[in-house]
Amino acid sequence: MSRYWSSVVHRLTPYVPGEQPRLPQLVKLNTNENPYPPSPHVVAAIAGELAADGASLRLYPDPNAERLRAAIATLHGRFGVGSEQVFVGNGSDEVLALAFMALLRHELPILFPDITYSFYPVYCALYGITYLTIPLSEDFRIRVEDYAAANGGIIFPNPNAPTGCLLPLVAIEQLLLRHRQSVVVVDEAYVDFGGESAVALVDRHPNLLVVHTLSKSRSLAGLRVGYAIGQRHLIEALERVKNSFNSYPLDRLAIVGAVAAIADEDYFETTRRAVIRSREALREALLLLGFSVLPSAANFVFVRHPQHDAGELAARLRQRGIIVRHFPLPRIEQYLRITIGSDEQCAVLLQALRELLAAC
Ligand SMILES: *Cc1c(COP(=O)(O)O)cnc(C)c1O
Repeated sequence: MSRYWSSVVHRLTPYVPGEQPRLPQLVKLNTNENPYPPSPHVVAAIAGELAADGASLRLYPDPNAERLRAAIATLHGRFGVGSEQVFVGNGSDEVLALAFMALLRHELPILFPDITYSFYPVYCALYGITYLTIPLSEDFRIRVEDYAAANGGIIFPNPNAPTGCLLPLVAIEQLLLRHRQSVVVVDEAYVDFGGESAVALVDRHPNLLVVHTLSKSRSLAGLRVGYAIGQRHLIEALERVKNSFNSYPLDRLAIVGAVAAIADEDYFETTRRAVIRSREALREALLLLGFSVLPSAANFVFVRHPQHDAGELAARLRQRGIIVRHFPLPRIEQYLRITIGSDEQCAVLLQALRELLAAC
């Protein structure tokens, strides 16, 4: 607290990201990073950009990242996406932050699930947006029929976080038709691990914005690249806010690295499939240990053990250098969210759990 703070700062409750401890040998399964490195083409492209003693770094990057937007449009080309329907930002968190300002800040409250990405209420506080949370069903599903209140917009991740549950496209389309007066933002951070992208609906729905990130399925959390796809009028709103805040959200290295990652389809498919395979194997093994495991379409599983306290399990795993995420929040305080690691990391986790469950 300081008397120099603005009234906005006094009101904020900032988001707390999962910890990034600098411990050697850590089995880090707490922030949904990809266990595999990015495509080798990413490193080559960044090295290329740094050639000639990094002379290009003297110059500002392309403020509109045209090359990257074209690559993203091509990636989603089968749905007829053009680069003018793509907006890029410094991680999808930034894209989301701009979307809250540009498209969700209206007179009416926005709607999102009671259990969801905990950054959404933080953006609401930042911009003074009111919101209503809509409870997930008992089995943690989004029921679109519950989204009935008058609203200034709707946002949810699909698959949802931290549950991993997937909402089918038909349900998203119902929501879009029922709420034509407001923007529906579908945050597809995990869609590559088992979902069907709502980008398929963009050309039919003027109120749909789909947000993606390269942090999870492209192994580039450290490069900070996210994007949104929507009809031109929505993208233009994001551009107007972005150009009122920071004209160059993506630096030169991020632009070339992201283009290279998107171009390497084979590597993407291989690593994506490996994560999905590991997820299913981990799920089976956890079920055998007596955990209940929600079906996941993401790169994490959301689990509970009927006989063991989740907070305590997380603390004991931590003592062994294994970090998972525990949210001490209503309805989910007995759950752990475990990121899918490499098969080696999953094996270490399972061995630790076997020993912990046997000991108490
Ligand atoms: C990880 C995540 C993001 C943020 O991704 P970045 O692109 O790394 O900022 C956004 N939404 C959800 C639901 C996420 O899990």
